[in-house]
Amino acid sequence: MDFELTNRQKQIRLTAREFAEGEFPGVAREYDRREEFPKELWKKACELGFVGVFIRKEYGGLGLGFLEFAMVMEEFWRVDPGCGNILLTAFGSELIQLYGTEEQKRRYLPPLTKGKAIMGTAITEPDAGSDITGILTLAKKDGNEYVINGSKQFITNGSIANYLAVFCLTDPEAEPRFKRFGVLMVETDRPGFNALKITGKMGIRASDTAEIRLSDVRVPKENLIGGKEGEGFSQIMQLFNINRVIAASQGIGVAQGALDKAIQYVKKRRQFGQPLAAFQATQFRIAEMATWVEAARNLCYQAGWMLDHGKVDPKIISIAKYLAGEVGVKVANEALQLHGGYGYVADYDIERFYRDAKIVEIYEGTKEIEKNTIARELLGRL
Ligand SMILES: Cc1cc2nc3c(=O)[nH]c(=O)nc-3n(C[C@H](O)[C@H](O)[C@H](O)COP(=O)(O)OP(=O)(O)OC[C@H]3O[C@@H](n4cnc5c(N)ncnc54)[C@H](O)[C@@H]3O)c2cc1C
Repeated sequence: MDFELTNRQKQIRLTAREFAEGEFPGVAREYDRREEFPKELWKKACELGFVGVFIRKEYGGLGLGFLEFAMVMEEFWRVDPGCGNILLTAFGSELIQLYGTEEQKRRYLPPLTKGKAIMGTAITEPDAGSDITGILTLAKKDGNEYVINGSKQFITNGSIANYLAVFCLTDPEAEPRFKRFGVLMVETDRPGFNALKITGKMGIRASDTAEIRLSDVRVPKENLIGGKEGEGFSQIMQLFNINRVIAASQGIGVAQGALDKAIQYVKKRRQFGQPLAAFQATQFRIAEMATWVEAARNLCYQAGWMLDHGKVDPKIISIAKYLAGEVGVKVANEALQLHGGYGYVADYDIERFYRDAKIVEIYEGTKEIEKNTIARELLGRL
């Protein structure tokens, strides 16, 4: 067993940290306040190769693994989660790289890494969240085209994307049930496509989220990912395996960032004639926070390493994501508490981190869904 990071991994982590520390702090609060996507930061991140690091070199990426992607995400979220989500502008490209036809890879992947296009993945619907098999969006074959009708809810990048991977019913009567689905690439300038930006989110407010309506949207049959009907469900499950590891890295990033802020603050703030850091109660709190972060990081890296070595284990992935989500929320809460009243106002970044942390317990599978997966792997289907 080797816990040492490779030189390449150390290097990408360091450059990601330097980029985030250099670019985010001056602007993060404003992007959060205005609920605005940081376009300039996204362009710069693309220029430096941070977007889609896992995309193979022949399609414009750096050809790294998902573990390295998780490390970059962690470093970005450590400095600011909302701005950090510029890395999600290639959300769904994993699907194209894994299952897409050669033509799909050449068409959709290079623009994402070059800062020329943004994508997202639309699975959730108003009446189908945790139960993704309950979706109603229908893609009906009509000659050489699919005609898509339906609604999608809470779609990251929904109002800024150039194309979305849309999870649809392609054969609603097929048995077994998981054969009913397909994932279609939908260009957002097609007639019948409408996106409505959701405002008033609690956290990650610099990350775009939208409701989508698809009314008789026509796409050529070549837009079906992989070109074969009935594969959509297993494709989306594999996307979850990858993106739950990435979500775990977000939880670790926000937790580490909150811990950094708490350490800085308790060394400076004095009460009862001494720094807060001199109280043993504070020291224990800091020690506990660091322990949770380290434990969550190790699990996340293990899950990422396994993914990159073809050892996909949904139980380990769900454990990593569940733990990292809770650790993010817990550490941000403790860090805010250590800031006292100052933590409760927006002048201090910890207020934003506290709001941002919660999303990791909700998206890419809620923590209850992660626990269902873990329990099912241990107990079997009952
Ligand atoms: C900011 C943001 C960005 C998002 N981005 C995307 C995106 O890009 N693409 C996309 O497709 N979706 C996205 N989502 C949607 C997200 O994945 C869903 O919100 C999430 O899967 C939960 O679905 P739901 O909100 O419908 O909650 P529900 O499924 O209705 O769940 C409500 C509660 O019931 C619990 N619950 C449900 N079923 C069970 C069960 N079987 N056992 C125990 N408890 C259960 C849940 O854990 C939860 O606590 C995003 C959401 C947000 C808020």
